[in-house]
Amino acid sequence: MITGKNYIGNTKSAKGNRTYQTFNPKLNLENEQLFTEATNLEIDEAVALASEAFKSFRTTPGLKKAAFLNAIADEILALDDTLITQYCTETGLPVGRAIGERGRTVGQLRAFAELVTEGSWVEASIDTAIPNRKPLPKSDIRKMLIPLGPVVVFGASNFPLAYSTAGGDTAAALAAGCPVIVKSHPMHAGTGELVAAAVVKAAEKTGMPNGVFSNINSSGIDIGKRLVQHPGVKAVGFTGSIRGGRALYDLAAQREEPIPVFAEMGSVNPVILLPKALENKGTDWAKIYAGSITVGTGQFCTNPGLLLGVKSKALDNFVKTLSTEILKLEPTCMLHPYIHNSFESNKQRATNQRGLEVVAKYDSEVAINHARQMVATVDGSIFLDNNTLHQEVFGPYSLVVQCENMEELIAIVSKLEGQLTGTVLSEGNEAANFTKLISTLQNRVGRIIYNGVPTGVEVCPSMVHGGPYPSSTDSRFTAVGVNSIKRWVRPFSYQDWPNELLPEALKNENPLGISRLVNNKQSKAKI
Ligand code: NAP
Repeated sequence: MITGKNYIGNTKSAKGNRTYQTFNPKLNLENEQLFTEATNLEIDEAVALASEAFKSFRTTPGLKKAAFLNAIADEILALDDTLITQYCTETGLPVGRAIGERGRTVGQLRAFAELVTEGSWVEASIDTAIPNRKPLPKSDIRKMLIPLGPVVVFGASNFPLAYSTAGGDTAAALAAGCPVIVKSHPMHAGTGELVAAAVVKAAEKTGMPNGVFSNINSSGIDIGKRLVQHPGVKAVGFTGSIRGGRALYDLAAQREEPIPVFAEMGSVNPVILLPKALENKGTDWAKIYAGSITVGTGQFCTNPGLLLGVKSKALDNFVKTLSTEILKLEPTCMLHPYIHNSFESNKQRATNQRGLEVVAKYDSEVAINHARQMVATVDGSIFLDNNTLHQEVFGPYSLVVQCENMEELIAIVSKLEGQLTGTVLSEGNEAANFTKLISTLQNRVGRIIYNGVPTGVEVCPSMVHGGPYPSSTDSRFTAVGVNSIKRWVRPFSYQDWPNELLPEALKNENPLGISRLVNNKQSKAKI
């Protein structure tokens, strides 16, 4: 049952008197449940508990952490229809999407459970001593990854499960051995509370320390700011807008002890339409892209907001087909009136720019909070000189940039801000003739896609979901897949430490049976 309370560690708490409600965008009315915003005292309690929990959780064996992560997955599944209904009530998203996102969330938790059960992720590295080395003896040095400390997680409005309460950031931080304090997203506070209850239940069932997880309600930015500034917090995970991510990044840098903020933010995900692909398969691609631009009401960070091609008859045909096809699709509901209003004003801002021509605009009546999709086009030279046109319009909108020639297209790609993805549509081995373009694109993005769409992020170890700023604040890391655990750890060396006092991962006997780098050779053998 939803109570509207915070979880301060395992305890439900509502000491404050500021309340707020979530919103049903389909019905265009507030949901009944009142949520109580956390007080400063409750925030301090959550951080104090997390700091205390860290003392034991940091060295909790992989098998116990795995049991915890699997139990979270089980408890989320046990919420069954209650969770799915709440998700839909707070987002306007369809049941199929809710079920799909739950599957991904549970899959992520189980993938991290597997990772920590196997154990080699700590990157144990051992350089044994050479006592008779001349002129000086060499010490025994052993290194592994250790957790940073309590992590604050900010979830996104558009992924109430997979990028929120027990989403990728939380699963990765818990797997690393970091307690998590979630700043619940105000738009889906009920979904957040249900998932938080599942995490707390799992923590209790598997004997995790109180404070390993807290869930903080908030309806404004002050609570998030306070959490980021709290001296007990050692890292931040954020998924959301560039404005929000940058503000928190700056705040963390201004602290007496600066801490890392791993912010995954907006992106326009450029798609390059190579000439032969346009000529031979332009119609097919236009149909596919009409779907990709509108899927999830365009509310994906990987939405293809920018399509680039060299002027030709085939590009004209592509634009025509895309326009026809996208208008055949029924508009769908956005997450919240705020997001809907921003979509309308961002479209307006784009269309006010000189030289922009709207080629498809859904004009018929739509239900409340439903998004009218739009496609616009602009000349490459105008796009090159106008940064406003480079900005994300969050929703079903895409801009086709028509370039004079390939040199102009390359110049545009090199001037783009950092992006999560870049896509190349190529016929046969056409792409092989555009190596300069491809390497320019590689320099701007975190993932490059060949003959596909950027929407849809596979969760697997080789996935990179991140990219040069501003798509993320640190392009060296991914936010999706088990390697995202690397954001919440630091390398640590032991020098000449007695074998019996070393952590299991570094002991001579290799009791965990993990893969280690021993004197520069990867091995599972004992020393
Ligand atoms: P948002 O408005 O930035 O909100 C995200 C969270 O950050 C909210 O909890 C919000 O709190 C908080 N916040 C925002 N500004 C803040 C500030 N200045 N100080 C403290 N807290 C602040 O983003 P959203 O509407 O949830 O998500 C949409 C955006 O996320 C899109 O741009 C999309 O592309 C991006 N996104 C990126 C990814 C990715 O993986 N890269 C994934 C999904 C979405 P309040 O709501 O309380 O203000």
